[in-house]
Amino acid sequence: MKSEVTIIMDSNSENEMFARIAIAAFITPLNPTIEELNDIKTAVSEAITNAIIHGYADKSGKIFLTCKIIGREVVIKIEDNGIGIDDIKKAMEPLYTSKPDMERSGIGFTVMETFMDKIFVESKKNFGTTIVMSKNLIAS
Ligand code: ATP
Ligand code: MG
Repeated sequence: MKSEVTIIMDSNSENEMFARIAIAAFITPLNPTIEELNDIKTAVSEAITNAIIHGYADKSGKIFLTCKIIGREVVIKIEDNGIGIDDIKKAMEPLYTSKPDMERSGIGFTVMETFMDKIFVESKKNFGTTIVMSKNLIAS
């Protein structure tokens, strides 16, 4: 199976739930296990939340979500045109957060890395951030 969808959404916190449901609906034809479905939804939530609270902070902007199905591989891209990340390596360290005052625990990237097979992060200060992550589903 080969299929692709792109959703452009505003950076409202409500859209985190929308993105989770949209992704789940899109990959349903692959018959993912409940665990695979939860893993993917959780990883998407983390990336979307990051775009909303870090990328755009208090401002409003667009988030671009693309999901591709290639055979049994699910490839998800989440892009924002927000503030960008200075030091990607440091940002991805477990427990690192730039917003400890907001009771963030700095585990978003670790969750994405744990629940997906691969994750790739690209970012440029003041231009935005792109996260690409993929997961191979077990044979149905
Ligand atoms: P948690 O996810 O546990 O609530 P967190 O969001 O701070 O806390 P991560 O998701 O691991 O932790 O992100 C680590 C850091 O990377 C963030 O604190 C932020 O500085 C930076 N970051 C992540 N995503 C973006 C983004 N889209 N735009 C700008 N900075 C980002
Ligand atoms: Mg986070």
